[in-house]
Amino acid sequence: MTNRKLIAGNWKMNGSLAANEALLDALLQGVGAPNCDVAVCVPAPYLAQVQAKVAGTPIALGAQDVSAQPQGAFTGEQSAAMLNEFGVRYAIVGHSERRQYHGESDEAVAAKTAAALARGITPIVCVGETLAEREAGRTEEVVKRQLAAVIHVNGHCISEIVVAYEPVWAIGTGKTASPEQAQGVHAVLRAQLHHAASEHAAGIRILYGGSMNAANAAELLSQPDIDGGLIGGASLKAPDFLQIIAAAR
Ligand code: PEP
Repeated sequence: MTNRKLIAGNWKMNGSLAANEALLDALLQGVGAPNCDVAVCVPAPYLAQVQAKVAGTPIALGAQDVSAQPQGAFTGEQSAAMLNEFGVRYAIVGHSERRQYHGESDEAVAAKTAAALARGITPIVCVGETLAEREAGRTEEVVKRQLAAVIHVNGHCISEIVVAYEPVWAIGTGKTASPEQAQGVHAVLRAQLHHAASEHAAGIRILYGGSMNAANAAELLSQPDIDGGLIGGASLKAPDFLQIIAAAR
């Protein structure tokens, strides 16, 4: 089975009203009718701006996080219902920066995944090992533990999620996993999905993320178990993001 690929930009905490306008204008001018699904995951204050810009275009709107809670005294958080009101289609959950700087546990990531699914938002669940874990030969163990936490999310089918393998040592560092290294981990994740839900495993998209750019995207995206990319830095440069989109077919 060949999945339609997904190229999702993670703007992280970057942008401004003016910069977003210019970036989206350039993307919309160049994107045409892409051979893949495309999304931009934007900072929460810009959801309304980007929703209006991308309405009716091939670019879907994504958020960078979602609260596990439905409402109430959770200062600073955004619920899935709120994201829904802005037409959010995807939400990144468990990004390594949230795990690292906000102490998000596997259980917290699973709860966020469930909250997104309950509102029809596709969670992009990030997994990935640190450099120390890779060097200790623990890559498989770590990514399998992280994926296991979201595989049995109450009442929802695993087929509704997107997985992103993002080796922490490759994020924002310019160090990319080689296509073989990435494919090796993607195959492990695919096998784990197969074990959990054999009928759905082939159709679940597993994205690669970690310094993917215009120069390395085609080779990474041609690996059999790489179904797209989660792109940080390069998603802020329209020509680079457009080249990555063009490489996904
Ligand atoms: C990310 O933050 O999800 C990411 C992959 O970043 P970069 O592409 O900049 O490494």
